[in-house]
Amino acid sequence: DLDCIEGARRPFRDRDFRAMPITVIPVDPEGAEWHSMVNPADPGDTVGLVRDATAAEVEQAITAATPWGASPRERAAVLERVAELYERDFGEILAIVAREAGKNLLDAVGELREAIDFLFYYARQAKCLEPTPRGRFACISPWNFPLAIFTGQIAGALAAGNAVLAKPAEQSPLTAAKGVALMHEAGVPQSALQFLPGDGAIVGTALTGDRRINGVAFTGGTDTARAIRRNMSEHLAPGTPLIAETGGLNAMIVDSTALHEQAVRDVVASAFQSAGQRCSALRCLYVQEDVRSDFMEMLLGAMDELRLGDPWRLSTDIGPVIDTDAAAEIGAYIDSARRDGRLIKQVDAPDGGHFIGPAVIEVDGIEDLEREIFGPVLHVASYRAQDLDAVIERINARGYGLTFGLHTRIEDRVQHIVDRVHAGNIYVNRNQIGAIVASQPFGGEGLSGTGPKAGGPDYVPRFAAPDVPKAA
Ligand code: NAD
Repeated sequence: DLDCIEGARRPFRDRDFRAMPITVIPVDPEGAEWHSMVNPADPGDTVGLVRDATAAEVEQAITAATPWGASPRERAAVLERVAELYERDFGEILAIVAREAGKNLLDAVGELREAIDFLFYYARQAKCLEPTPRGRFACISPWNFPLAIFTGQIAGALAAGNAVLAKPAEQSPLTAAKGVALMHEAGVPQSALQFLPGDGAIVGTALTGDRRINGVAFTGGTDTARAIRRNMSEHLAPGTPLIAETGGLNAMIVDSTALHEQAVRDVVASAFQSAGQRCSALRCLYVQEDVRSDFMEMLLGAMDELRLGDPWRLSTDIGPVIDTDAAAEIGAYIDSARRDGRLIKQVDAPDGGHFIGPAVIEVDGIEDLEREIFGPVLHVASYRAQDLDAVIERINARGYGLTFGLHTRIEDRVQHIVDRVHAGNIYVNRNQIGAIVASQPFGGEGLSGTGPKAGGPDYVPRFAAPDVPKAA
């Protein structure tokens, strides 16, 4: 309903986020520490203001944090109420997500639906499992799903009755603040949900190094997860759980029997939707040698159809990358491929915001990818039919295991590959970025995550005291 979305956008433009209550933290609007959040698609558009929590305020928040005393049924009812409030403020939340994180409208709608699904699913789990809390959980989230992952972690921890200390990413505190405001409005006690926007190195380090923390849920980069694990092992009680969902180097194989039109559409979506800023995004495509030339011609042609621009327009396929640093890093990576003669194509990008034109880079194989480039960059390799198993071994050897995609029309081959590839989520003959969230688990193996996956029956029990029996 576009009228509803437009209507919700106008009042939002005038909102002053300094009015947003930050629990426990003594907010001083006159203080000098406020900083602006700027729309990545339009640096002239100031979305709102935020003040970071200090280490002293983290200390204060941990002291004040008290596990939620309500019964599992009462907790479930409040989480369902949160979902209803997310529905009530749907348009306003879309506007915040689009303006703060640069997500296009359809991505933002998906994000909101995902957050709502998590709330309902974990509420149901609270009722079914009747979990008891571990105590205080630190929930540390990334900016690329600023509402869905932020909400999912918190809802999982709250469903089990914990007190939550929620730290959003530096790039998306306003979306998170809106979510927290609605959680409090729905009836989550202030003491059970403390909101701590701020720097990872300050707030994140203080939280994951405080012995009063009984568990950490983290989603973000693999290196950050390593730093958190080190900090926890030095300061927290042995056995304190770390639930980490981390990065990936995701591959897809397109064999000579694949339907080209469909495979091209799915490759484009997997690599470039959300400007490639999804943990599940396709990073390395293997195309069978015999069809490579035709396939690439279609793929490069399809890239010309992509529309980059204002995330708020329904016609926009691809918005900006998140900030100046991201744009500089991705841009430098593409430039280096250009200098080496490996850049096959880059689409032009509009001026103004942090736009990066989707790019395709030639590689011999996944071993050529140094690291996860979190942007619209697709690497392409080719393989010979007899080397299929060797390709899978090379993909597995990288040690990540988040998503994997396959396009083939040979049924036996599907099973053959699914049996061998190490990945938390495998997508056959479709794009590899979507997930049926909440009831279907999503998450990685190896360097991509510790488990349990987000969603599914194992997530909430991990937040619960260990004596509670798991779901059958
Ligand atoms: P990031 O690791 O830079 O930051 C994530 C969070 O950790 C932020 O809140 C940040 O402030 C905090 N942080 C940073 N340093 C910290 C420290 N030393 N101690 C404690 N907290 C600290 O990641 P990002 O750039 O926000 O997100 C992108 C990354 O997240 C990508 O690697 C992507 O693949 C991954 N990701 C994974 C999943 C998944 O489900 N596996 C989902 C989304 C994103």
